[in-house]
Amino acid sequence: MVYFDHNATAPMLPQAEAAFVAAAREHFANPSSPHRAGARARAELDRCRERVAGRLGAEPEEIVFTSGATEGANAVLRHFAGAAGGAACLISAVEHPCVRAAADAFWKERVHSLEVDDAGRVEMDRFGARLRDVRPALVAVMAANNETGVLQPWEEIAGVCRSSDAVYLCDAVQWAGRLPLRVPAGRTFLVGSGHKFGGPKGVGFLRVPRGVEGFAAMVGGEQEGGRRAGTENLPGVAAMTAALEHTASLADDTTEAAARRAWRRDFVERLAPSGVKAATGEAKALWNTVSLVMPHALNHRWVNRLSRRGFMVSTGSACATGREGPSHVLSAMGLAAGEARRTIRVSSGWETKERDWQALADAVGEIAGELRSEGSSAVVEIPD
Ligand code: PLP
Repeated sequence: MVYFDHNATAPMLPQAEAAFVAAAREHFANPSSPHRAGARARAELDRCRERVAGRLGAEPEEIVFTSGATEGANAVLRHFAGAAGGAACLISAVEHPCVRAAADAFWKERVHSLEVDDAGRVEMDRFGARLRDVRPALVAVMAANNETGVLQPWEEIAGVCRSSDAVYLCDAVQWAGRLPLRVPAGRTFLVGSGHKFGGPKGVGFLRVPRGVEGFAAMVGGEQEGGRRAGTENLPGVAAMTAALEHTASLADDTTEAAARRAWRRDFVERLAPSGVKAATGEAKALWNTVSLVMPHALNHRWVNRLSRRGFMVSTGSACATGREGPSHVLSAMGLAAGEARRTIRVSSGWETKERDWQALADAVGEIAGELRSEGSSAVVEIPD
């Protein structure tokens, strides 16, 4: 099997597995227990916090361990929906459902959508204009898109939010462990998720900037400095920390990253003769992700045929599986419905080899030939 669905979830790294088992065995005690075993578990948890903070350029006290990015994003949006009085929030049209749905649930009619260009990017001029119009208390723009891999100018957005006094929520789930990640100064809340970069599922981190009072993702006990009640998932945290350190050091290695970018570019070029095109054109994107508009058949057929040949790709976001209609991300980019339904997502990992990309390109070429000769009519079935 060749796995090209890392944006849905990545396989657990050996470093993460080892850290998980070691923490589960050696630090099974509750970090809040008053005895020596509890103190050792607490010390391990704090070491993980320091290591994660070190990787993000944040202070250890700013890192809150969560069950994942959905929890972190929900908590931030819920907290500020109450704290903002009647003020509005501004969120990009391509946010993950954990931001979109939470914004709708907590801010209701005070949610304003920020349009994107035809590659799915936020344009700074438009952002500035919308900021002046809406005067949001909170802005949410993700770092890199989970469906297309397109990169947002999120560090610049953080800077503008800082000078306009808006809270900034950055969903860095797909960026973390793939590109160098430093949290900008100011009121930037940032969420990450362990299972996207080789840690386990059900564990993530949230950066809560210093000086924010009364924030609690969960209420109950005093864990995580009162900002996230519930017994800490120490094996999960230890494994996520190991995975983040490993992948972040790869991300900092410019030679590694350049090689991966070249593989992605060559892959897209090899597909062009089969009538496949990248949905985001030449826009800057994660080295691991490409969203492809396929010829001849709907994305489900492509995914099934590739799966039968041993290549695991996806029709789009795993979180949208089962939902009707084309993806909100592709629609916001202005892709016609027919094209959106022919779009697949390919997302690699650090362990993916150049030959895997090449083999996938060959398989796509062969399937395109098969579908063409079968006279597939899916394109005409779906009106644009
Ligand atoms: N944000 C993005 C961009 C994602 O891709 C995902 C996962 O699909 C999430 C948030 C949700 O993360 P989690 O699974 O940790 O709740």
